[in-house]
Amino acid sequence: MLPLKEKDKAIVQKLLSSGCCARCVLRFCCVRLQAVYRQPPQGTLRELQDFVKPQESAESAESTGENNKSHDAPVPPQTPQSADPPSKRAKLEPSQPEQGAAETVPSVCVVCLGILQELCDTTQALKIAEAVKMEKYEFDSLVLSVSLPAQLCVREHSCWLHVKKEVREKGLLLDKDDVIPLKEAFKWIVQGPIAKELGGVSVVTKSALEVAVEFTHQPTDADCHFLASACPDCFKPTKNKQSVFTRMAVVKALEKISDAKFLRLFACPPPQPSSCCVPQGVHCLHLSVFIAGRYNKFCRSLPQTPWVIDGERRMESSVEELIAAPVLSAFRADGFNFSSSGREDVDVRTLGNGRPFAMELLNPHRARLNHEEMKQLQQSINASSDKIRVRDLQIVSREAMSRMKEGEEEKTKSYTALIWSRKPIKSEDIAFISDIKELTLDQKTPLRVLHRRALAVRQRVVHSMNVRFMDAHHFHLELKTQAGTYIKEFVHGDFGRTKPNLCELLKTDTDILELDVESVDVDWPPAIPE
Ligand code: ZN
Repeated sequence: MLPLKEKDKAIVQKLLSSGCCARCVLRFCCVRLQAVYRQPPQGTLRELQDFVKPQESAESAESTGENNKSHDAPVPPQTPQSADPPSKRAKLEPSQPEQGAAETVPSVCVVCLGILQELCDTTQALKIAEAVKMEKYEFDSLVLSVSLPAQLCVREHSCWLHVKKEVREKGLLLDKDDVIPLKEAFKWIVQGPIAKELGGVSVVTKSALEVAVEFTHQPTDADCHFLASACPDCFKPTKNKQSVFTRMAVVKALEKISDAKFLRLFACPPPQPSSCCVPQGVHCLHLSVFIAGRYNKFCRSLPQTPWVIDGERRMESSVEELIAAPVLSAFRADGFNFSSSGREDVDVRTLGNGRPFAMELLNPHRARLNHEEMKQLQQSINASSDKIRVRDLQIVSREAMSRMKEGEEEKTKSYTALIWSRKPIKSEDIAFISDIKELTLDQKTPLRVLHRRALAVRQRVVHSMNVRFMDAHHFHLELKTQAGTYIKEFVHGDFGRTKPNLCELLKTDTDILELDVESVDVDWPPAIPE
């Protein structure tokens, strides 16, 4: 039994005779009962036909008399309140259209272009489920997103105006927003079979896994074109869009255009299509997973990120690649974005507790690893290379990632540098350096990074230093500095671009032979006990 009221009769009749499919009729009658949409459409159509058929008793003679009239014939006045309204039997069967197609081939709906007909039957739902299965995601829910050709909005609008005229005549009220959206109805129909085929996962409105289904209908693409001249403001060409007729632009134009103008420029009801929409494959995308940890770098010939100069690769690997390879395979992700709390030069080691880093894993097919599995992943990263080591590896939220960059400038970093001095030194010559505290440096952007950073003078503070004498030309310098201090430039002076510098302090040329980062003072991510 369809949840339709007497007042819906006129609309049902008019829609059926315009070439609307049974489910689109339900949509335009604002039927919100999902189960009704899931019924086989042939049965729904018969019910609709019975619903508008005049009741056997009094009106049967009249109705058979009008049986074969064209659907364009005016509908006789009708009183909705009447218990037994006179009604015209419209041409009811979209499956037996006026073009005289074979009875068994239902004609394509003028509004949904087949989306709510064969394109949402069980076969189609199973195809969608199969496509998801192929990707081998680990998931327990998914959100279905449906992309429809923009001209469906035009056709829906045309159909709405068609019914609007009718309901106005009858004094019935109906708002365009009350019409059940095509996408909704489509989802109501297919989500059950999809969920069942995927072993009972839930199809929900919010999920990390999005399954996108797209339909196109090239033969009616031109349906939208009249809007461009009618509402030129709505269709501005954009660089990355193939067509100006985006769904959003079309919806905006339809809100602007007057009914009269629309009716002058587009058929009402919409013209009969000769084919239905074409499904464009299924695209699955899982929300990113974020992981974080700390890394050590033990090698003086390993860049943090792939080092490419003029399209040519300089070093065979990088910190991020060494970490990423095992991670990508564990999460079965398509790609990654790497970020860290600062970075070291290719020839600088990072010791101590290591440098905090985070990675966004793109389209992971597996999103959850338990504590034990994360530990194993960390072990496999560490076993894969002796150039790096990772600790505190964990899954974090997108929001937590920003903690790494928060207040980065205020953080301190500790370094050990091996220094060469031109002038021979004794231990007591350099001892005074250990007494220097809170030394403010003016650092002009170093020459070596000037090609990628703006020229500026930055003030940085060396909080404390400690010297360890080695021989007449060498000593170790330990520094605790504000993050972002250029250590190499502080040592050799960068042609006077960093002031004061170690050469000035020692009154001789000094250079830096080796540099190690001893600690990066960022308390994120939280430490994980080994
Ligand atoms: Zn339809």
